[in-house]
Amino acid sequence: MASTMEKIVSLCKRRGFIFQSSEIYGGLKASYDYGPLGVELKKNIKETWWSDMVHCRNDIVGLDCSIVMHPDVWKASGHLAGFSDPLVDCKNCKERFRADQAPRTEAGTEVEFREGGKSSGSKLKGVVDKRGYVCPVCGCPDLSAERQFNLMFRTSIGPVDPLQEIADAAGELADLDMKGRMKKLHEIVARSAVYLRPETAQGMFVNFKNILDSSRVKPPFGIAQVGKSYRNEITTSNLTFRTCEFEQMEMEYFVKPGEDEQWYDYWRNTRLSWYVKLGLSQDKLRLRDHKQSELAHYAKACADIEYYFPFENQDGEGEWGELEGIANRTDYDLKKHSGFTGKDLSYFDPETKERYIPYVIEPAAGADRAALAFLCDAFDEEIVPTAKGGEEVRTVLRFHPKIAPVKVAVFPLVKRDGMPEKSQAIMDDLLSTGINCFYDHGGAIGRRYRRQDEAGTPYCLTVDSQTIEDDTVTIRDRDTMQQERIPMNGVVEIMKKRIGN
Ligand code: ATP
Repeated sequence: MASTMEKIVSLCKRRGFIFQSSEIYGGLKASYDYGPLGVELKKNIKETWWSDMVHCRNDIVGLDCSIVMHPDVWKASGHLAGFSDPLVDCKNCKERFRADQAPRTEAGTEVEFREGGKSSGSKLKGVVDKRGYVCPVCGCPDLSAERQFNLMFRTSIGPVDPLQEIADAAGELADLDMKGRMKKLHEIVARSAVYLRPETAQGMFVNFKNILDSSRVKPPFGIAQVGKSYRNEITTSNLTFRTCEFEQMEMEYFVKPGEDEQWYDYWRNTRLSWYVKLGLSQDKLRLRDHKQSELAHYAKACADIEYYFPFENQDGEGEWGELEGIANRTDYDLKKHSGFTGKDLSYFDPETKERYIPYVIEPAAGADRAALAFLCDAFDEEIVPTAKGGEEVRTVLRFHPKIAPVKVAVFPLVKRDGMPEKSQAIMDDLLSTGINCFYDHGGAIGRRYRRQDEAGTPYCLTVDSQTIEDDTVTIRDRDTMQQERIPMNGVVEIMKKRIGN
């Protein structure tokens, strides 16, 4: 029987939520495209985040930065030197994986695995070395040394072609030993190298002074941004959970040193309740505080908001996965950028006459992971009676109306007797208010309801023969499947109220 995750992946493709990128070319590892329903879901999540973080408050302003920034930004932030994962190759099955994500097995343990990682391969034995992990695919402990691999995508800017420059330097390179050759190659590449940003946060730090000078903000205040980030992830799996291109929703909140702990607590709680408010099951959400040993060297505290995804681990159980990190980054980033640029990134408080470099509390969320969590949480199957007295499985996505891709579907019961015209009039009213609605006149009414259940549409309006007589329509609730009659001319107001527009 298909696992829950397999069913969700299949539903995503079948109904146009998520497709594999470049599928007709065989796909590209860990790249996905959002179809008509998926793009609405993700857009609703991003818009709700923006509304709650920027529009509904007067202490946070927005920003939209370039994806390619000055390369020194990444030197200052530490990404060029430190944003790397330890990579290991399995000598048995040739899988390349991240050492920090490999299954832990106590050093000295004797383990069994199959030759070449194939189920038909003969059984072999090995002993786990002091690193204490084995290959995640075949369980073999015979592994290469760990190599640091930078996760940033590098490209080049300007009319210079680094390949041409390398070709021009071929003679000089040939005279150098390996170390010298690598150094020279790095120098050539670095002349035109730029990077796709691996996070949006640095944009907020490097624009801190621009915003202070232009926007009449004073600590405590925040700068928010939603945008694409890129990481050359090695281990990718579970649909859009870990991809090389993804969207982040990040906010840097600048506070007076000494007030950072209270703001850190505030943002931990505020951000956790945001997911609950939008319908994520509370029992599948947790805040996990990082242990001291897990903390980045500059962070004073950090907690992850995690969701219990239905990804199956080796024991057939789900897995906790990070949706968002909330960190107290202290004054590290502003100090670093100030040091690299020589620019003063302090704040002068005209009232208290104090000058200080603000501390930063950062809630950093991923729009794609949030969309995946909302999809997984909304997914439900239930046995319902059919019209003919039998039973069938009803697949339903129980999205909160605020993030549901389509808010309401309109059906004429039959394609005659004035019903399509009445339905179209309702559609026109709804469309003119910007409520995303869908018209469907094809097939039996029961099937049309099921199609909308699978898309997560909270309400269906049906125009029937009684509508022609008294201008009322039925409204069917996705979750309860209950129907009631409402006046046709009140449809827009009722829908606005129910979907919270
Ligand atoms: P992880 O530990 O899972 O690699 P991270 O701690 O490196 O994540 P952050 O740098 O804190 O992630 O980024 C903030 C958020 O951005 C994450 O909580 C996640 O929602 C999202 N994110 C990070 N990397 C990816 C990715 N490769 N694919 C999809 N979303 C991502």
